[in-house]
Amino acid sequence: MAIEQTLVLVKPDGVQRGLIGEVIKRFEQRGLKIVGLKLTKIDKDFSQKHYTDDIEKRRGKEVRDRLIDYITSDPVVAMVVEGVDAIDNVRKLGGETESKSAIPGTIRGDFSHVSFNHADEKKIPIKNIIHASGNAEDAKHEVALWFSIDELHSYKRVEEDQVF
Ligand code: ADP
Repeated sequence: MAIEQTLVLVKPDGVQRGLIGEVIKRFEQRGLKIVGLKLTKIDKDFSQKHYTDDIEKRRGKEVRDRLIDYITSDPVVAMVVEGVDAIDNVRKLGGETESKSAIPGTIRGDFSHVSFNHADEKKIPIKNIIHASGNAEDAKHEVALWFSIDELHSYKRVEEDQVF
């Protein structure tokens, strides 16, 4: 049984739109466990450690610059979500990066609709409510970046004996 931890952010648009509870609800109802949680506003330095060169390689410098302006513009909610294959489970609940392509029923598919084309024409980031770690390596880096060991907690959810 691969119990994993993954980092999720409710990005500034999600916080501004009052979607913090809605996002958390979806992880909790799937049986995933919130083991770390905070509201915080990050500066440019910190944001560059989160959105590393990797995003520049995959999406280009301009998208990275847009993203950094966006993620530092207002508070975000950061959380660590734990569960069996939590990284894949959370990505599935989040939906596709491009809101237009995100399937209804996913967080992005239910609360956003903008396309890559639109974002690129307007030179804006795709405001797609959440960030979720993309793979095991990113999850390890991001959980350690956002949370110290003593901010992460271990407890048992009441239904664990039925689920596992
Ligand atoms: P994900 O967040 O699904 O892991 P990426 O890591 O590829 O996706 O991209 C990070 C974020 O950058 C996306 O969630 C989105 O907000 C933004 N983004 C990606 N590509 C574009 C683009 N072409 N135009 C605007 N914003 C983009």
